[in-house]
Amino acid sequence: MGFTVENGKKLLLIYNPMSGREQTRKDLSYIVEVFCKAGFLPTVISTQKQGDVIEIIESIGEEYDLIVTCGGDGTANEMTNGLVRLENRPKCGYIPTGTVNDFANSLKIPTRTTDAATVITNQNFFNCDLCSFNGRIFNYVAGFGMFTNVSYVTPQESKNVWGKMAYFFEAVKRFAEYTPCHLEIEYEDQKIEGSYILGLVSNSEYIASIDFYGKKNIKMDDGVFEVIMIKELKNPMEMQDVLNALISRNFHSNYILRFQTDYVKIHSKENMSWTLDGEDGGNVTDVEIKNIRRAIHIAVPMGNLSVAKHQPKQLEDINK
Ligand SMILES: [Mg+2]
Repeated sequence: MGFTVENGKKLLLIYNPMSGREQTRKDLSYIVEVFCKAGFLPTVISTQKQGDVIEIIESIGEEYDLIVTCGGDGTANEMTNGLVRLENRPKCGYIPTGTVNDFANSLKIPTRTTDAATVITNQNFFNCDLCSFNGRIFNYVAGFGMFTNVSYVTPQESKNVWGKMAYFFEAVKRFAEYTPCHLEIEYEDQKIEGSYILGLVSNSEYIASIDFYGKKNIKMDDGVFEVIMIKELKNPMEMQDVLNALISRNFHSNYILRFQTDYVKIHSKENMSWTLDGEDGGNVTDVEIKNIRRAIHIAVPMGNLSVAKHQPKQLEDINK
């Protein structure tokens, strides 16, 4: 029997030729082959500039059964920003070719492109939460403060986790160089005011290649995200206290604010710059972050991800 496309699912593959490794271009024909072998009908589009993925998905996404993007964390971010604009949201897949790939790592998606393509053809879908930041989607992390200077310059040659951790701690040690932001933070029935040098709002095991929470209680479909903020540090002893809390990953420090929630409001008198999934998130005074529960259906390896069974209880507020 010859080649048949009768039952072929329509797959839209959007790839970023500029992403991380030049390898993407070389791998492309192998990726297409994986999809064709599995009976999919791929349409391939290469992006020309930032924002293309969103526009492509918004204009033709609904015509496809499956939308796959190939690129770095920024490409994955554009994919979800495009998908949420669709009324009839197709399922999706992601082939990571960036340099950090935190989103893919948290979803256990392999970094070898053909392996990631095979994961997609196996069609095991995970109902992943997304987060909205003043209406804009981020997949895994929004951050301000030191974070914007530190995390995305983490040297890639630091392959082992401790190397990366060490680098992160080096940055924390330079705390005095950062101007703290005076913030009003509101979530659930809490209202907190204070000065902070770093804030991370995440729904991810990995942040800047670091297994940040040590896999503790991090689920990407549980309806909540994690918030961690480091207060203004006034002397080396306070800094040491924070470092100890981060290294041990128990986060017990008077200078760390940590909680889980599905909604947080942050107000600052001055404009503060944010990053969303490693991209520029703009300069704003007021931020509203919401969890959008199980917003996308993304292909992941079988049996590798723990699925949230119920809404977890609020973490104990260690600042009280
Ligand atoms: Mg979560």
